[in-house]
Amino acid sequence: MIGTGYVGLVSGACFAEFGHEVICVDIDSSKIDRLNAGIIPIYEPGLEDLVHRNAQNGRLAFSTDLTSSMKGCDLAFIAVGTPPRPEDGHADLSYVYQAARDIAMAAEQYTVIVDKSTVPVGTAREVMAIVREANPNADCDVVSNPEFLREGAAIQDFMHPDRVVIGADSERAKRAMRDLYAPMLDKGIPILITGIESAEIIKYATNAFLATKVTFINELADLCDKVGGNVDQVARGLGLDDRIGPKFLRAGPGYGGSCFPKDTLALVKTAATVGAPIRIVESVIARNDQRKKDMADRIAAAVGGSVSGLTIGILGLTFKPDTDDMRDSPAIDIVRKLNENGASVVVYDPEGMEQAKSILSDVTWKSSSYDVADGADAVVLVTEWNEFKELDFDRIRDSMKQPVLVDLRNLYHPERMQQAGFQYYSIGRPNS
Ligand code: NAD
Repeated sequence: MIGTGYVGLVSGACFAEFGHEVICVDIDSSKIDRLNAGIIPIYEPGLEDLVHRNAQNGRLAFSTDLTSSMKGCDLAFIAVGTPPRPEDGHADLSYVYQAARDIAMAAEQYTVIVDKSTVPVGTAREVMAIVREANPNADCDVVSNPEFLREGAAIQDFMHPDRVVIGADSERAKRAMRDLYAPMLDKGIPILITGIESAEIIKYATNAFLATKVTFINELADLCDKVGGNVDQVARGLGLDDRIGPKFLRAGPGYGGSCFPKDTLALVKTAATVGAPIRIVESVIARNDQRKKDMADRIAAAVGGSVSGLTIGILGLTFKPDTDDMRDSPAIDIVRKLNENGASVVVYDPEGMEQAKSILSDVTWKSSSYDVADGADAVVLVTEWNEFKELDFDRIRDSMKQPVLVDLRNLYHPERMQQAGFQYYSIGRPNS
């Protein structure tokens, strides 16, 4: 497994759990040192047990040395990052191509090279060309096997996916992939074998569709705000339609995270380049970017129009609960704009503060929700961590300068918050 991040580590540990022998390789030696010392570099529920168990029984190992790790390998997964290129938003494939070159040079036997990273259509063919150029004698096939796991539920998603998608041309590679996923086949999980290009497109189509769903309900929430509707009721009515389904219909501050923003962008860039622009996703990106910025104005409106000179407490920084991942979290835009507008910002997140410290500078770090509320002019719920569900709201209210609660995730019940004595503002629901 080349690349030992969220996807590589989870996939590696889960394949080991299936009974395969896995070596997770990374160029980040501090990450590999920590893993070899039993320290899990990311927060992901259940991962620590899974990694320890499989490392102890000898099926899971960690290394920085790709060449020696490749000895005897049947499959080499590329699970490195594909961030947007700052200059043009296209997926940066340099890590993927470097991994491909390294694998080609190290492969000593027939090897299936598997693109697990999310990569634009055409990448697997490019990887094959790179492999052939780097080592004309290498006996390799390249397949696309996109990953659909969600951070926070990664192990459950990996072990029990809705489907496994394998894009492959070669019968030999297809057989190897079927063997690899045999435990899932046995459980009846659909294994969809497609052409390579289709598999690559399926991954982007999935994320773009979900991002569109989120943006759609967010725009309906704004409509509800204007006309007195309740977006939670609208989402329920909409989601009960079997053709639509209830998931990804929760209004909020806009989507973030390590996947939706970069994958929607990469999709529209690829589509535009080949002359098949996907306008609906272009619009989703623009609306979502604006939405994240607009959240600070909502907060200002809740405290009378301006946050200048006020103390604003933030509960939750990560882009969603149960992860420490801060990449493209809406909290970043919100906090920065509050800072720009003259607020003092105090923050707390159960798992994300270490990562947040490398992104946000002008904030005061707190170690609990109650510390955030103490002396605040408003408390803003940004990420719906479980521990924020059942707080001592009397204590929160009494310690605040003024009892203004802005709930950007519709986590709380408006009447309950009103009874608790808050001026309560949420998204797309009548204010208390
Ligand atoms: P990550 O940044 O957490 O991890 C990537 C790792 O690859 C890093 O540890 C980095 O040091 C390592 N790396 C880079 N170049 C390398 C090389 N040449 N050899 C060895 N290691 C190398 O990224 P991630 O979140 O795991 O994402 C990986 C890919 O999977 C991306 O394409 C992403 O879009 C996709 N994906 C991510 C998720 C998710 O929820 N995070 C879900 C599905 C798909």
